[in-house]
Amino acid sequence: MKETENLTPMMKQYWEAKRKLPPDVLLLFRLGDFFELFLEDAKEGAKILNLVLTQRQGVPMCGVPVENIEGYIGKLVKAGKRVAICDQMEQPKPGQLVKRQIVRIVSPGSNGYGSFLHPKEHQFCMGLFPWRNKLGISFIDITTGLFLAGQLDTNKEFFEMVVRYKPVEIIVPEGVDFPFIRRDAQGKEALEGPVQDCFIHRYFSWAFSYEEAKSFLLNHFKVSSLEGYGLGEMPAAVCSAGALLRYFGEELHQSLSHIVKILQIVPQHILWIDAIAQKTLEINHTQSKSGKSLFEAIDRTVTPGGGRLLRRWLSEPSNQLSVIEERQQAISFWLNNPNKRKELREILEKIGDLERLLSKVSQGYVNPRELSSIKESLRQLPVVKALLSSLDEGLICRLCEDIALENELVEELEKALEENPPFSTKEGGIIKKGYCPALDELKEMSEQGKKWLIDFEQKEREKTGIKTLKIKYNQVFGYLIEVSHSQSKWVPQHYERRQTLANVERFITPELKEIELKILGSKNRAIELEQNLFEVLKEKIASRIPSIQKTMEAINKLDVLTSLADLAQERNYCKPTMVDEPVIEIEEGRHPIVEQCMASGDFVPNSTYLGPDQRILLITGPNMAGKSTYIRQVALLSLLAHTGSFIPAKKAKIGLLDRIFTRIGSNDDLAMGQSTFLVEMNETANILHNATSRSLVILDEVGRGTSTFDGLSLAWAIVEELYKTNRSLSLFATHYHELAKLADIYPEIKNYSMAVAERGGNVVFLRKVVKGSTDKSYGIQVAKLAGIPDRVIEKAKKILSMMESGQKKKSPSKKIKDSLDGPSLFPYLFDQEQ
Ligand code: ADP
Repeated sequence: MKETENLTPMMKQYWEAKRKLPPDVLLLFRLGDFFELFLEDAKEGAKILNLVLTQRQGVPMCGVPVENIEGYIGKLVKAGKRVAICDQMEQPKPGQLVKRQIVRIVSPGSNGYGSFLHPKEHQFCMGLFPWRNKLGISFIDITTGLFLAGQLDTNKEFFEMVVRYKPVEIIVPEGVDFPFIRRDAQGKEALEGPVQDCFIHRYFSWAFSYEEAKSFLLNHFKVSSLEGYGLGEMPAAVCSAGALLRYFGEELHQSLSHIVKILQIVPQHILWIDAIAQKTLEINHTQSKSGKSLFEAIDRTVTPGGGRLLRRWLSEPSNQLSVIEERQQAISFWLNNPNKRKELREILEKIGDLERLLSKVSQGYVNPRELSSIKESLRQLPVVKALLSSLDEGLICRLCEDIALENELVEELEKALEENPPFSTKEGGIIKKGYCPALDELKEMSEQGKKWLIDFEQKEREKTGIKTLKIKYNQVFGYLIEVSHSQSKWVPQHYERRQTLANVERFITPELKEIELKILGSKNRAIELEQNLFEVLKEKIASRIPSIQKTMEAINKLDVLTSLADLAQERNYCKPTMVDEPVIEIEEGRHPIVEQCMASGDFVPNSTYLGPDQRILLITGPNMAGKSTYIRQVALLSLLAHTGSFIPAKKAKIGLLDRIFTRIGSNDDLAMGQSTFLVEMNETANILHNATSRSLVILDEVGRGTSTFDGLSLAWAIVEELYKTNRSLSLFATHYHELAKLADIYPEIKNYSMAVAERGGNVVFLRKVVKGSTDKSYGIQVAKLAGIPDRVIEKAKKILSMMESGQKKKSPSKKIKDSLDGPSLFPYLFDQEQ
């Protein structure tokens, strides 16, 4: 069926709605108790939702029940679709076409209410706009109202931001090419490179123009300048933020009333963690199914909002001494006041996800049960404030001041809401007795009606002499008098038969219908009135959103600070001294994730010193000795220190860093057509281009992906470059023991190795970092540990001894050299070159 054919009025209405939408949007059209998809939408939707496709008058369709709509929307959106909801705007009347309207369009970045939302994770949609040599970026989490904007200098930083905030959707202007967005054969756009899945949507380019974007923001925030948000001198940020907010309001029909401010992203105030480093260090998400991310290892927050804030602290570690020290002081305070901390955390636990609930209030999807949970959460505020007001600590006092009590609102909600209201507004039972006299009256009438029914039943039994006569209720016929077949002959003349069932007959009388009218009439009017009162309560909450959001910012911070104090106490973390000089000094540091996966005391602590006189550590040792764990540990502790958190060590002094880079393991990206070695070199090139004397660089086995001579030569040259040009603090784990010679040439390069003991022909890893290099690789012993068959091990030993004897003669046979190109051959070349 086409739009032009003879259409029923309802299908005309369908097409009217459909025409308003971009072609990729699926239209869910309300028909009574179902939302239906039609035509091509139905075919696509049925596949994604696993529904049966039916036909009505040749039109393919499929439907989902209204009650479960959010779950179905979630599934469609997760599959990358945008979905429009066209709802009935009035109660259906017989013979009349119901008024319908598109109430919202849900896209990956806006679907906040399905079951896919993680409580402790933000769900960002990102806006992007290039302006001269800047890239304007902005983020909105519509489910909490968080709105961020800033501008970047390079496309490289764009990837760092993408990994940092993990947007699920990116909005870009029509007609503008971005080097990092590629288009496939079907015209679908996606991000270039190894970043996570993310949907790209084009939006009107005029919406990104400075004038349009700025005036949209000014109107929304009802201000005359954006200076107050720090965006006065940031045109690229304004263009991106204004268009993104408009996209939510005008394209997706979302309410924006809970977006009450815009926070500036200041790249200069953040410790940058290179995109690759964020992934390989597994800061917010782990790459393996069984492993833990840093977030998971250190998260002790008790509220979803606290969890989200801790993630942000990990994604945006600060390089501002004042910010870090302020957090440290607050954590110290909570550590020294364990009873108060426990008390506070017990109260915080009772505070639900107010930010997401407020967003639902703003969008109009909140249900009575959720309103009750808003009330319960707000009830805790005076208790929190009373507890904090007796404490004397700078940041904590400020947070206490930020908490507004909302007494009036709580009082109103307490008076109005039943203790356990239902999820739905359909059946009433939301509003307490005594809140609204008109409602009480209607309810009384309905109750009274029930009493009349009981009296009526009794009276009829007596009049007819039928003792088993009963009053029943039925959806179709309303109230009925039920009599068994055998006794039905005794019913009086004025009983009108309505229904005959297997064993009983059912009748009505005019008197019964009169009672029914009173009962049902008052009941329906009561439900309607309750719904109206519920709407008014929602509006009252909506008017307090800005104030409650500010309070929640303070509550989230309190949750994170006390949770970090809990962590510090539980796992014996220390407060690092932060200094403004290039130094990392850690005494007995532990890897925060690996340590937690082991029995207490099994993890071997290791110390680290990096500073002006010891800028590069070359760490040799066999596979499995613990090199990677050690170098990652230094990166993770440095990062944690910049969030303000305490760190797993006995003592530490950490200098403020500008960036952390890593090149770890083989991030094979074959799907993107890049070999392991190419990826490795790309990542290393990035480090050599960008690392500074204030950066921490972690390199693991660089050069491994190619032949030994190639790899070793590259590794050598890379260390020299880091030493001479970048001058960064660096840890270089390598199995090329030949690199140890670098320490003889350059005084600020030092050799370390992982201690290993040999016991009874077996290798024992001591996991201790010791001074000096090692040239033993124990590969064969490790292979044995891994279960390589004995005959293979024996053969390998023979070949090794052949090679070693060849080495002593200083001229390996060509045959060995060709077949066994390995590290032990390098000295020949090395010696020749010297
Ligand atoms: P390498 O990089 O030298 O091959 P890894 O760092 O991958 O070695 O460490 C191998 C294993 O040793 C890790 O999976 C971890 O379980 C264990 N390990 C590493 N460091 C320590 C340590 N300090 N204490 C205890 N176990 C450790």
